[in-house]
Amino acid sequence: MKRLLKGGTVVSGSGAIRADVLIDGEQISAVGLGLEAADAETVDVGGMLLFPGFIDAHTHFDLDVCNTTTADDFYTGSRSALRGGTTTVIDFACPNKGESLQYGLELWHRKADGKSACDYGFHMTIDDWNEDIRRELPAMFDQGITSFKMYLTYPAMMIGDQDLFSALVALKELGGISGVHCENSGVIDALIAEALASGQTGPEAHPQTRPSPLEAEAVGRLLRMAQVADTPVVIVHLSSEAGLQEIRAARARGQKVFVETCPQYLLLDDRVYFQESYTQAARYVCAPPLRKPADCRALTEALAAGEIQTVSTDHCSFTLAQKDAGRDNFTKIPGGLPGVETRGVLTYSALVAGGVLSCGQMARVLSENPAKLYGLWPRKGVIAPGSDADIVVYDPQADSVITAEGQTANVDYNPYEGYRTTGSIRSVYLRGSLAVDQGNVLAGSHGQYLRRGRYQL
Ligand code: MN
Repeated sequence: MKRLLKGGTVVSGSGAIRADVLIDGEQISAVGLGLEAADAETVDVGGMLLFPGFIDAHTHFDLDVCNTTTADDFYTGSRSALRGGTTTVIDFACPNKGESLQYGLELWHRKADGKSACDYGFHMTIDDWNEDIRRELPAMFDQGITSFKMYLTYPAMMIGDQDLFSALVALKELGGISGVHCENSGVIDALIAEALASGQTGPEAHPQTRPSPLEAEAVGRLLRMAQVADTPVVIVHLSSEAGLQEIRAARARGQKVFVETCPQYLLLDDRVYFQESYTQAARYVCAPPLRKPADCRALTEALAAGEIQTVSTDHCSFTLAQKDAGRDNFTKIPGGLPGVETRGVLTYSALVAGGVLSCGQMARVLSENPAKLYGLWPRKGVIAPGSDADIVVYDPQADSVITAEGQTANVDYNPYEGYRTTGSIRSVYLRGSLAVDQGNVLAGSHGQYLRRGRYQL
């Protein structure tokens, strides 16, 4: 089947141009002015912005955390993603310590295959390091896993400096890339013990026990290890100006560092934790925590300046009933926010309409850069002949209001409740099929697993 999207403005990382888009089957066959195709269904997209399908390189669907499981699995999470213009997610396969990478990969395939409505790939979590795991790495690449996740915090996940360094070296030899959660573990544990001992058990203790210098320390330590390993790394969910300074220092030494941040670190700040209502405060608990308004400003400026390459979400959703688990002890609050559905509209509203980013920059940080960094380019991340016909039709005039009631995610709150958007997503195409129309998710569970290549950013 052929479709001709006529009269719109096509956005790519290099800018926005007036052009028609011809879709033939699952792919784009032509982009240009005045296209005609007698055998195509013509769709009038006059006045619309056409973005390459957004890629969210940081989601957690169907993940067990804190003795519970995320509210969104691949069924609801992928539909929530599509509704927000995200046609590809890269989730994290997470074997437990003692399990093989292959076991973790197969487990995540069982969670996603036949359930996901959007296309998907997996990063592989390395939370254990030994010769068996080292020997498994080439098989991961053969199965389309080229990016890995490591932790400098969380005892259940972290592997320590020696093993992390060895893993960085091993992955470098294979052309892989690692994203690392950077927070200092030991000092945070000490601050938590101190807070609990002095009777500070509420959500306001969460940001106080994970202050930004402890992100900066871990970013700095990781980047020094990466310097010695002579390999680029990804700083995932950067939240603070202090952490950003460490990245600037490493780049000034000549290191290549890729940086991801999330809408919550640009648009929300830690005042939410100091609300009187437990339920109001606990819903924002995530790690790293939300920071100060000055951190939001610094990250926003860094994004505009091209110092931050990708905006993902760290979507990790829990219902308010699940968040209730920490009523007597903030460390028991399952950490994470829903976000996969609102990333595009928030980026457009707050940053593009807000005059911070151009449309082209938005396409770069939501689509093009994640496609390049995670080995999906040019199949994904661009509206061009030969690429998958993943297209977000954005109506810049159709302002809307974000509400939990109106969302597709399987959660009973939205961190941006009441936010007035500038424009909204009119429709979404996934590999040529109309996947979302006027807010209705039409796509079935036809998302494909994406075997990814090596990074090229
Ligand atoms: Mn995460």
